[in-house]
Amino acid sequence: MNNHLSKVDGKALRMIRLIAREADRRGMAAYVVGGIVRDILLKRENYDLDFVIEGDAIRLARALAGPLNARLTAHGSFGTAVLKLPSGQRIDLAVTRKETYRHSGALPVVSPGTMQDDLLRRDFTINAMAIAVNRGRFGQLIDICGGRKDLLSKKIRILHAQSFMDDPTRIARAVRFEQRFGFGIERRTLTLLKECVRKKATQNVKAQRHFNELKKILCEPDPVRPLQRLHQLGWIPVLPAGTKVSFAGLRRLQTRVRKLGKMPWYNTFEQWWLIKFMVLIAQCTEHVVNGILSGIHIAKHERQSILQSRQIRHLGRKLSTQDLPASQIYQMLKSFTKEAIVYLRATASQEVVAQRIDRYLQRDMDMRLRINGDDLKKMGMVPGSKIGKVLEQVLCLKIDNKVKSKDDELKWAKLCLAES
Ligand code: ATP
Repeated sequence: MNNHLSKVDGKALRMIRLIAREADRRGMAAYVVGGIVRDILLKRENYDLDFVIEGDAIRLARALAGPLNARLTAHGSFGTAVLKLPSGQRIDLAVTRKETYRHSGALPVVSPGTMQDDLLRRDFTINAMAIAVNRGRFGQLIDICGGRKDLLSKKIRILHAQSFMDDPTRIARAVRFEQRFGFGIERRTLTLLKECVRKKATQNVKAQRHFNELKKILCEPDPVRPLQRLHQLGWIPVLPAGTKVSFAGLRRLQTRVRKLGKMPWYNTFEQWWLIKFMVLIAQCTEHVVNGILSGIHIAKHERQSILQSRQIRHLGRKLSTQDLPASQIYQMLKSFTKEAIVYLRATASQEVVAQRIDRYLQRDMDMRLRINGDDLKKMGMVPGSKIGKVLEQVLCLKIDNKVKSKDDELKWAKLCLAES
């Protein structure tokens, strides 16, 4: 028997063995499943460990949480558990289940099922494989849908004719995997996908679920290809029909972002999907953007950044004015979120604008004074709005390199106070 886990890297393999031992001890059949199996066969790195368990997955996860020093989140009604390791790694454990759809686009009705049912509920053959991990079966591939053959022939294939109608979010998934791996969508699958788009079945799905898939596309190293392919197929998740998208703008962004790698602030910035989303909807009207945002749940800060990205782009010209002191740039940018500012930086075509924003992100944005309101009160200032104003004036002087030490700051505070 071929051991399909023999090539898994040491750390992941140790984790799999540990979970397998615990499952053996409890007499539960355990399998790694889904994307990780696909990626093992493709010899691609994958850090998501997804397990399905024939048995009580939550009980197994509880037993593992201690030895792994992991944080456990369990969903009793779905029989699923997530272990978050101190390293940040995530391990998903779920009981094998069956899913049926009451109508197109509905959330599936979940019931207990066999390992076979669990594979048959999945999206594509290449994602519907499992590898057994129990003693005596360790490394054995379970491939009842022909996933391995489709991996070899580079095909994205659904498992049954109703698949896209059941869950139209699979359209974006099909295209994402097709473009990521350089595969093709199998002929009949493509016909059914197009039929689903033509029937507008995508409208049966809550915007949030489409948004989750769009976000995954935006997190791909090259999201432009899947987005272009979806556009060609007549539908992009979340965007209303007929929305103008500038693929050239997205490509420009990709090129610029690659060059940004040298910027120190770049290394700590993680929200690139959001910047790409801002560019994607840049040509939408205010009305359309508000419509999109009203249908999805995203963090308040992200929502604010998206709205600000539409205002901040008008600052480009002002920021290119000659002889602009750093403190004025600070004043222009300080009310915007970092994400909105990075958007402006990543879309700015003028070098002078780019340099000024880099300085702001790298230095001025986090500039702080050594003195605070208490120091000013000690100088006899009455608490109130003036204190804030004076501190802001001194901060601007510091940004313009006119203030160095704490004594300088106090001296300038006194002067500002006298002038105010
Ligand atoms: P990635 O490499 O992008 O993480 P993945 O295959 O791991 O890809 P996930 O979205 O994490 O993708 O899903 C994990 C697994 O769950 C998939 O491999 C697939 O088997 C199943 N799955 C996810 N979404 C669906 C869906 N909409 N319909 C059916 N099965 C799905």
